[in-house]
Amino acid sequence: MEKIDRSYLRYLRYTVQWGIFFFLVYAGYKFYLFVEHFTYAETLTPAPETILSMRPPSVEGFLPIGALMALKLWLTTGIFDRIHPAGLVIFTAAVSMALLLKKSFCGWICPVGALSDTVWKLGRKIFGRNFILKPYADYPLRSLKYALLLFFVYVIVIKMPPDAILHFLEGDYYKIADVKMLYFFTMMTTTTLISLSLLFIFSLFIKNFWCRYLCPYGALLGILSLCSPLKITRNKDACIDCGKCAKNCPSLLPVDRKIRIHSPECTGCLTCVSHCPAKGALDMAFTKNSIMNPLVFAILIAGLFFGAVAIGKITDRWNSAVTYEEYKRIIPQTSMLEHP
Ligand code: SF4
Ligand code: SF4
Repeated sequence: MEKIDRSYLRYLRYTVQWGIFFFLVYAGYKFYLFVEHFTYAETLTPAPETILSMRPPSVEGFLPIGALMALKLWLTTGIFDRIHPAGLVIFTAAVSMALLLKKSFCGWICPVGALSDTVWKLGRKIFGRNFILKPYADYPLRSLKYALLLFFVYVIVIKMPPDAILHFLEGDYYKIADVKMLYFFTMMTTTTLISLSLLFIFSLFIKNFWCRYLCPYGALLGILSLCSPLKITRNKDACIDCGKCAKNCPSLLPVDRKIRIHSPECTGCLTCVSHCPAKGALDMAFTKNSIMNPLVFAILIAGLFFGAVAIGKITDRWNSAVTYEEYKRIIPQTSMLEHP
């Protein structure tokens, strides 16, 4: 057997994931200062343009339901959401990545995925292992995220007409949906705190608990990723049956027993490839004989995501059109605004 060491792929992924994570923490802090200005507008008086420039559009990545509505509106009418355009750009990038490069948004970009990964590794350190649910519990639990997805698809994609979507997107509630999201974390209710604590505890024991069982965004990307021409592919002639790929797969996929991984759970994280010691045994590939260099795969992921962001910025589809005066009027009423 010719040996190979591709552990660098793991470090590359951690660098991308955590780079984005810390960027978003910084963006969250800037957004907090932006919102504070409107909460205590009387004490600070910089120019409105200076205040608006403090608002990081990237926080709109946390509004995928609004982005799903905006995507439907865009595809059916050509109208591009001007309230949270960055949210639509990020969502479109994630969908395109899923169609071409597996569920790589989850494996390489999503900050929740990065956190989830850290929590189960912490659990493994504390308890010496992670736990795998038996199929009779695993399958019904996994269907939860698809049930949530089905609900959103039914309500938004099937039932909601484009004019109703436009009305919602242009309303006051959606204009400060990002502020509501911020308050979800900075002004936690007891229910939120208990739910997040439970999520943390379950995530210590079970790998990627949120992603595996509850995230409808991941469910959507997983289904779309079935169309991706690239799949993890095992060459059984070069494979030495060491089982390291399956043992290290965060999605618990039986990589060592399959020739091609068709699962919607595969995030394209390349962890299996990075652990495989046999040259030519495991790769991301179009077909068994048409392999893609994993570095090229990683570059394509970064290129597609950051390329979409760059196009959004260049075409002026990144910054929100909500004005300073609108924020000044709406933000102080955030807690009173109900879903229309
Ligand atoms: S099969 Fe490989 S690429 Fe897919 S989730 Fe498992 S470790 Fe990641
Ligand atoms: S494909 Fe999996 S089982 Fe085969 S050599 Fe690589 S890590 Fe071992």
